[in-house]
Amino acid sequence: MFSNDARRRSSSACYPIMPETLFINCTFLPKAYGNLTHNAYLRVKGDTIAETGDMAGISIPPGASVIDASGKLLMPGLINGHNHCAMTLFRGLADDLDLKTWLHGHIFPAEARHVNPEMVYWCTRLAAAEMILSGTTCVADAYFFSAMSAQALSDCGMRAVIGHGIVDFPAPSVPDPRKNIETVASFIADWKDRDPRITPAVFAHAPYTCSPATLRKAKELADKTDVRFFIHLAEGQQEMEMIIDPQGTSPVRHLASLNLLGENTVCVHSVWLDDHDLDLIEKTATSVVTCPQSNMKLASGIARVEEMRQRKITVGLGTDGCASNNSLDMFKEMDLFAKIQKVRQQDATAMPAQSVLQCATTDNAKLLGLPRLGHLKAGYKADLIVLDLATPRLTPFYNPDLLVYAASGADVHTVMIDGRIIMENRKILSFDLEETLEKITFLAHQVRQAR
Ligand SMILES: [Zn+2]
Repeated sequence: MFSNDARRRSSSACYPIMPETLFINCTFLPKAYGNLTHNAYLRVKGDTIAETGDMAGISIPPGASVIDASGKLLMPGLINGHNHCAMTLFRGLADDLDLKTWLHGHIFPAEARHVNPEMVYWCTRLAAAEMILSGTTCVADAYFFSAMSAQALSDCGMRAVIGHGIVDFPAPSVPDPRKNIETVASFIADWKDRDPRITPAVFAHAPYTCSPATLRKAKELADKTDVRFFIHLAEGQQEMEMIIDPQGTSPVRHLASLNLLGENTVCVHSVWLDDHDLDLIEKTATSVVTCPQSNMKLASGIARVEEMRQRKITVGLGTDGCASNNSLDMFKEMDLFAKIQKVRQQDATAMPAQSVLQCATTDNAKLLGLPRLGHLKAGYKADLIVLDLATPRLTPFYNPDLLVYAASGADVHTVMIDGRIIMENRKILSFDLEETLEKITFLAHQVRQAR
C-alpha cells in the first residue's frame, strides 16, 4: 500500500534535542496533590528534570534554551492508561450499539478486513497526533501488529507501554492462533531494549477470547520477561456467560483460579466486581484501569472506583480505543470520570478533582511500571505539558480543580516528552501531521468502499 521508503522518510524525526531547557515565569503544578506556585521555573537537562524553583533564585546556564511560560501552567504530562491506538480508523464506524453487537457485528469484521501493518502504523500516528495535541505524553496501547505501533509511537516521540494482542481465533497479525504466544515473545524480545521510551507488554484480549491455557501461557510469558500483563476484564454484566471454560464464579475469580492476578497484572474496565472480587484484587496487588467514557457509551456500567481506592487498589484512567469513546482527550475523560463517580455514589465529595488527576498521572505511571513519571521534580523524566491559561474557560484560575472540570486538550500549548519539545504553540514538531492525515483519508476511503 505505502512503500517502506515513504515510511522511512516520514519517520525521520527532525525535532530538536536541547542539552538544557528552562521554562521560566510559569505557574507550576508539580503533581496531582501538589501546591500551585507562581513565578516558578523548571530546568531540564537531557531527558530528566534537573531542578525546579522560584524565579528569584534562578540562574540561566549558558547555551540553555529558554521558554518564557508567562501566563501559562506547567504540569505533568497526562498518561492514557488504556488505548487501542490504531482504532482511530474505526472512529464513528459503529455508534449507539451494545457491546456484543458493536464488537462482534462491526469491530471484529472491520478489523479482519482492514487491519494490516501499514494501517496500524499510520492510524497509530493519527492517535499520537490527537494525544499530543491534547496533552498526553505516555500511552498504554493494546493491539495487533504491535511492532508497527511501537515504531509509530517511537517515531512520533511519545512514551508508550505496548501490549501485543492475544486471542484464540485467527487475528490479523497472527493468522494461526497456535503461534500467538511465540509472536508476542518475539515482539517483546525485539523491543525490550530498543528505545528507552517504548516498553513492550502482553495483552490477553479477554477471558472470553482466550482459553484458560492461553491465558496461563500469556501470563507466564509476562512473568518470564518481566513485563506488564493487560487484560480486559468484567467489562459487561454478562461476561461470565461468555468465558471460555470458566474456572470460577466471576471473571476475577476465573483469573484468580488460573493464578493470573498479581503486581504486574492490569485489569482493564473491571466494572462488574463484587466485594470478594475486590478482596482478591487488593490481596494480589493487581491494578485496575477504568475507562469511564467507553463504559458509558457502550452502557457497560460504572466501575466501583471509590471502593477500590478505599482498599488502596491502584486505579488508573484510560480512554479505551476511540471507536468506543470516541475521543482520546484525557482532559475530557477526567471530567466525565469525576462526575460519573459522584453520580454512582450519590455523593458530590466522591472522586475529587485531585484524585482524578492522580489517576491520570502518578497512579497510571505506577501501574505501568514507570515510576519516574507523573511528578515534576528533580530526577524524574521530563514529560510535561504547558497549558495556556489566557482562555475564558480557565479564567480566573483559582486552583487546579479547573484542570479536571473546565480544561480541554485544546488548551495545551506545548508538550515535552523525554526532554524534547514535541509540540509548541499547538504545532507538532516531531512528525508531519499533514502527511498522516492524507494517509488516513486514503485508508478511510477503502473502509467506506467495503461497507
Ligand atoms: Zn480496550
